[in-house]
This record gives sequence, C-alpha cells and structure tokens, in this order.
Amino acid sequence: TQTLHIVGGGMAGSEAAWQAANAGCRVVIHEMRPKVETFAHRTGNLAEMVCSNSFRSDDDEQNAVGLLHWEMRQAGGIIMATADAHKLPAGGALAVDRDPFAEAVTAKLTAHPNISVSYEEVDSLPDDGHWIIATGPLTSGKLAEAIRAETGAEALAFFDAIAPIVYAETIDMGIAWEQSRYDKGETEEEQKAYINCPMTKDQYEAFIDALLAADKTEFKEGETAGYFDGCLPIEVMAERGRETLRHGPMKPIGLTNPHNPTEKAYAVAQLRRDNALGTLYNIVGFQTKMKYGAQTEVFRMIPGLQDAKFARLGGIHRNTFLNSPTLLDGQMRLKSRPNIRFAGQITGVEGYVESAAMGLLAGRLAVAEMTGTALPPVPHTTAMGALVTHITGGAEAKTFQPMNVNFGLFPPVEGLKGGRRGRKDRYKAYTDRAKADWAEWLAASALDAA
Ligand code: FAD
Repeated sequence: TQTLHIVGGGMAGSEAAWQAANAGCRVVIHEMRPKVETFAHRTGNLAEMVCSNSFRSDDDEQNAVGLLHWEMRQAGGIIMATADAHKLPAGGALAVDRDPFAEAVTAKLTAHPNISVSYEEVDSLPDDGHWIIATGPLTSGKLAEAIRAETGAEALAFFDAIAPIVYAETIDMGIAWEQSRYDKGETEEEQKAYINCPMTKDQYEAFIDALLAADKTEFKEGETAGYFDGCLPIEVMAERGRETLRHGPMKPIGLTNPHNPTEKAYAVAQLRRDNALGTLYNIVGFQTKMKYGAQTEVFRMIPGLQDAKFARLGGIHRNTFLNSPTLLDGQMRLKSRPNIRFAGQITGVEGYVESAAMGLLAGRLAVAEMTGTALPPVPHTTAMGALVTHITGGAEAKTFQPMNVNFGLFPPVEGLKGGRRGRKDRYKAYTDRAKADWAEWLAASALDAA
C-alpha cells in the first residue's frame, strides 16, 4: 500500500495523520522536535500548544470558531476529542490542560497501528510520493529556503503584519465613502475597492495621542529579526513623528469626500476590500503591536468606525506562510508540485483550531486522491469550506495575510434583519446552514484506504 508522509507533527500534522490513518492509510509523521527546537515549543510532544491554552469560543451557534469545533468533532477529529477530554473550566471558551493534552495526542498517534513517527528534520521538498507539509509558523530554516526556492521569494513570508479587519456592514457609510486614490483601477469595482474615513486636525491629533499612549505587546526573543522591512507597526511610525502617518498610510491626497466636497480632510484612514465577497475590509497600513483591548478603543476613534466590529485585530508575528491564493489549488496542492499538499498555519490560516482544521481536510483530501475516490467539493457555507475557499482563492492575493475563521468568510445569508437581535438570528442561520451542509458532505465522502 502507499504511504502518506506528513512533515510536522503540530496541530495540523497530527490531525491530518489521524484522519488518514483512520481511513486505513499508512502514515509516517516526520517531526524535527525534540532534536531540532523552535523558540516557542518547549517539549518533544506532538500537538504542543505554543502559547495560550485556549481553543477559543466553544459556542457552535453564534461563533465561527465554535462552529469549526463542531465540524471537527463530527469528522472524528483527534484534536477536539483530546481537548474535550482535558478541558479546564473557562466559561464559554474551550481551554485545555496543555501538557496532558499534548501527551495524550502523542500517545494516541504513536499507538495507532497505521502511524509511525520519524524524529528528523526534513530539509528539502520531496520529488515523489504523497506528502503533506504542515511545518507551521516556525518552519525550520532549511525547509523554508527550499520552499522559497520553489515558490519564489515573494510568495513565502517570514512575518505576518496583520492590519485589523472590519466587517463591512459595521462601517458608517454616512461618514465614510468608497473611492480609490486618484480613482485608480480599470473597472468601477476596482475604483471602489477602498473605503475612506476622513479626519479633521483635532481628530488626527487625538488619534496620534491615543496611539502613543496605548498598551503594546512586547516582541518575544528571536521574534523581531528582519521585521522592519516594510511592515512597521503603526504606533512605531507615530513615534517617529506626529506627521509621519499623515504623510504615509493616512495621507489625504487624491480623494474627494462626497459628504463634504469642499473641505479637504486633514488625514484619511483607508480600508481595502479583503475578500471577493466584499464583506471584510482591512485598515491599510495599520499593522500593530497594540494590545487587543487598546486596538478596539483606538480604532473606533476613526470617524466612520465608531461602531466597527472587527473580524480580526492586528498583530505582527514571526510567521512563515505561503501566498496560498496563488500557489495552492482548491485541493490544497502546490500547483507546481501536486504530490505535495500544505496544511496548517503555513497555508495562511491563523490559530490552533484553524490549523488543525486545515490538517483534517488535507488528510482527507490526500487519502481520497491516493484511493482514487472522488469527493464532492467542500461546501463554502461550512466553516471548513469558508476557510479553505478563502486561502485557495477567495482572498486578495496581493495583500494576503493569515486569517482566523469568521462569518465574513461565509456567503451571506440573505433576508435577515439588522441590529443585535438580527445578528443573533443571522449567526444562527449561518451555523444551522453550515451544520446541515457539513453533515451531508461527511456522509457523501466516506473514505476507505484499507
Ligand atoms: P505547529 O503546531 O507549529 O506544528 C508544526 C510542527 O512542524 C512543529 O512541531 C515543528 O517542530 C515541526 N517542524 C517545523 N519544521 C520542520 C521540519 N523542517 N521538519 C520536520 N518538522 C518540522 N495560535 C493560537 O491559536 N493561540 C495562541 O495563543 C498562539 N500563540 C502563538 C505564539 C507563537 C510564538 C507562535 C509562533 C504561534 C502562535 N499561535 C497561536 C499560532 C500557532 O502556532 C498555530 O496556531 C498552530 O500551532 C499552528 O499549527 P501548525 O500545525 O500549522 O504548526
């Protein structure tokens, strides 16, 4: 029988191995720890949680990550089953006892008759055989170089510089307006790919004061090297001079405010469309190391964003990830070498849960291919489908940055009211639709490699 090789036994690699092995496939996990260490991992366990011990919200009716939990449980996922078994009290969140959790995942995988673990660093791209690369945000240097040589330097990033992402529907268009600078763009759609939020001098000065005063997260040791090229945190730009932003990402030129055509704005915060659906916008140039609470407060000072809801807040981290929208096909295969799939955080999803989810999918897609089973496409309406659609084509390739799962990635459910009550109904409608479609997909995609 054929063997599936998985490089990296983290969240994604562990889940991919479990899915493939349970479908009867022989699996070898190649994991470099404990021989080669990373700056964040502490043990030689598989599925080690490198920082927080939380899988975030477990609410599968109102929260997209909770829905992803549900979908993974339905698919018999090892990460969710083990997390549930080592759960700690944490309100609505799924927090786990990290060491027993990782030890249990390691024990289950190593005891599986179809799985073996080879403790070694993989340092090149394999020419043949079936492979999944799930080496995560801290992919070792040699392998990263090999990937870079294959994909081109532009297509593999070593840092993320995440600007906050806002739900389009929460932007006040009575204040903001759609326009690209100098109306650039060939089509009307391109000319409207930006939303502009105008500031007076007083508003700008107050905004700069708030940026300078905000609580920031320190960089970890080993994290900063090289991050300064081209992705300065917005508060670092503000520290360089009060006018820096007004001459940089917040320059007010090339724009006319239709709400107030005669008065020039003193500064403008621009948001750029972040997905093909047009449900998400990122604030251009606003990557930041401000703490989450501070970000929400400071960014809501921007006129038009006073009621903004954030699909994700900003950050800057050491993070090796591919420009997946250009490099991967819909089956998560490297277009230039289709014997290799990628999974986990390296594909440009963000977080333990999202990474494990992409491992789950990659494992199943690999077995289907190895056994010649045709799977129906993963429904875009599910959390799993929304994520994989985003990274393999839905996201803007030019500005691609890692993404958490959120309802902005789902095709909208039409015909529901706005407001708080409306939002609850809408999220419930999203999750009901997703659950039905995911159950149907699982039933239609039974795998058997044995
Ligand atoms: P990982 O879980 O990192 O697994 C990748 C595995 O590949 C590792 O075991 C590594 O040793 C191995 N590997 C790497 N290179 C090679 C090689 N060449 N050969 C063989 N093996 C290799 N997410 C959250 O949800 N919450 C957080 O609090 C959080 N904090 C984070 C803090 C830091 C410092 C970092 C770097 C990331 C953090 N993340 C957090 C993101 C987190 O890393 C991912 O969510 C998740 O662990 C990614 O899963 P993965 O399987 O893709 O990668």
